Amino acid sequence: MHAIRIIGVEKNFGEVKALSNIHLEIEKGEFFTLLGPSGCGKTTLLRTIAGFCRQDKGDIYIENELINDVPAYQRNTAMVFQNYAVFPHMTVFDNVAYGLRVRKLPKEVIAQKVKTALRSVHLEGFEQRTPDKLSGGQQQRVGLARAMAIEPRVLLFDEPLSNLDAKLRIEMREEIKAVQKSLGITSIYVTHDQEEALVISDRIAVMNQGRIQQIGKPWEIYRDPLNTFVANFVGKINMLTLKLGPSAGLGYREASLGNITLHVPAHGTEQLDSIIVAFRPEDVVEVRSTDRRNTITGSLRTVSFMGSVARFEVDVEGQILTIDRHRPRETDIPPIHSQVVFSVPPESVLLFDPVSGKRLGKGDRS
Ligand code: ATP
Repeated sequence: MHAIRIIGVEKNFGEVKALSNIHLEIEKGEFFTLLGPSGCGKTTLLRTIAGFCRQDKGDIYIENELINDVPAYQRNTAMVFQNYAVFPHMTVFDNVAYGLRVRKLPKEVIAQKVKTALRSVHLEGFEQRTPDKLSGGQQQRVGLARAMAIEPRVLLFDEPLSNLDAKLRIEMREEIKAVQKSLGITSIYVTHDQEEALVISDRIAVMNQGRIQQIGKPWEIYRDPLNTFVANFVGKINMLTLKLGPSAGLGYREASLGNITLHVPAHGTEQLDSIIVAFRPEDVVEVRSTDRRNTITGSLRTVSFMGSVARFEVDVEGQILTIDRHRPRETDIPPIHSQVVFSVPPESVLLFDPVSGKRLGKGDRS
């Protein structure tokens, strides 16, 4: 049984198509993320599942129950908000107990459930504090404990970490993931932060302009993007539009731009004159000479030292490409404006149709 099924959901706000033809199935216990840029419709979809917003078309099921007409408070979902949404005048205990008291549970049961929820977010001993005496991270833990305490069928997270500083965000995302896995509550998480999505999710739906572009495990989304939008949105990627030329033999074809000539897999390119060649900064190999196949030469523009890698921006035929040098040493970094030669291994190249933006040889949901 799916925990959640969404079939053909549409939502318009006047002229704005906030959600178009959304189909989703989420498994029980799954940590599922809606990822996309501002305005892509992810919050609208989350709010529609919660019951705060009514879809114009389509059906939503929670555990096989059609909930289109079930009011939010009867859906047995719980939301963790961006702005914590803890009640400032109530103690931590009362905040977490809130939903349990609404459900009129016996006092001892409430005490036990609050204790369990606070233990799982590491806030034992904070029961009598008020939120003004808590840090942002602790307030968000109270929000999480309050949502979990009612043992909802689905936990919904609306960018819960966006008000926290960078270090705390990383700590909290680990914690949310650990708590979610230990309780096994089906969770839907909204974020525009692609790194957060990769780290925290079992599966991700990447959205753009109200449509799902791709659904997959973090590895699939990053390594096997179905279109240029997903490839660009998740992680850094280089894209060059090259003119397709003659066969290079052995199932390859030449593709060129100015002084660059690359060999790309011929399969699927038969009808095309040009092609988008894409590769990740970490996949290129710096080389000493241009003798190797698939080399690109450019002029070094900037170097950003990022700890585990040094990220080079290289001007290639007037376009800026990004390449990463692994395990960088300060003394080995070439001077700015010097020539950098690197090769792009054919197996790490992704090819896209320049008109539709779709990956060659792959289906596409968009
Ligand atoms: P963000 O990350 O900025 O919150 P989002 O991906 O969550 O963005 P939504 O908030 O779902 O996007 O909005 C999707 C589209 O619908 C946007 O164009 C937005 O302006 C529009 N929209 C959302 N809610 C309303 C509303 N109540 N009235 C009118 N338009 C709305």
